[in-house]
Amino acid sequence: MTRIAYVNGDFVPLEGAKISVLDRGFLFADGVYEVTAVIDGKLVDNEAHLARLERSLGEIEMDHPVSMEDLTALQLELARRNNLTEGGIYLQITRGAAERDFAYPKDVKPSLVMFTQERNLVHDPRAETGVDVITTPDLRWKRRDIKSVAMLAQAMAKQEAAKVGAAEAIMVEDGLVTEGSSSTAWIVKNGKLITRNLSNSVLPGVTRLSVLALCREQNLEVEERTYTVEEMYEADEAFITAATTLVMPVVKVDERILSNGAPGPIGSRLRSLYINMARATATG
Ligand code: PLP
Repeated sequence: MTRIAYVNGDFVPLEGAKISVLDRGFLFADGVYEVTAVIDGKLVDNEAHLARLERSLGEIEMDHPVSMEDLTALQLELARRNNLTEGGIYLQITRGAAERDFAYPKDVKPSLVMFTQERNLVHDPRAETGVDVITTPDLRWKRRDIKSVAMLAQAMAKQEAAKVGAAEAIMVEDGLVTEGSSSTAWIVKNGKLITRNLSNSVLPGVTRLSVLALCREQNLEVEERTYTVEEMYEADEAFITAATTLVMPVVKVDERILSNGAPGPIGSRLRSLYINMARATATG
């Protein structure tokens, strides 16, 4: 089946989806994006994704090409046209095509592009075994709270992980864990969960937000604070969260085996609670 993409008002076959070479997303990475998980053909945590999108757009003084309500309808229509029951919707807004110049152009309409990706989320076999991660220096810019399409540092980090067969690269700055290249990083020590506090140094993860709410419901103690790589090595368990992995247990960090090499109880419990919550609250 041909995949259908959405480009500036039109649903088109993915091979025919086109954007100008002068688009500032292409020339300057002048754009922001979101990935929303789809389960049972419905959008998971999408209100929070669109709220973060709105914030990212505001931080770079970019207009919305369509209202947030219309955007939800377009996402659902794209999922429907692609018969997508499980996976993700990638959505990107760039400042649009203009003569190449650094400062923002005036009166240019932003570009909106979306496509779908099928992915096993609920029955991801990696959740049964847990995943290995490596640590790597965080090479990114200083506004990581903006979900920018400038992702070369994350691609380099993920490539380091891929070279040694690890699923994720945990980025480290000044001895402190920032986050995964495409995920939020969590550790558990003595029954307490620890994840980095929000600031310009990390992306405010949407899955992180929902997992924090689940922790409150379950009376699990959480500390939102910086933590060191050594704390991660010494953790009882660890996991990562993202729209593309949900809650994914980590069983090895560099050469250190965690929780005897099997998914830890807290991460596994939060994964199943998150999936139940996602199914119960998804939009569509
Ligand atoms: N941190 C970074 C750097 C990411 O790229 C992502 C997702 O792409 C996340 C965290 C997790 O965010 P979310 O849970 O909203 O998918």
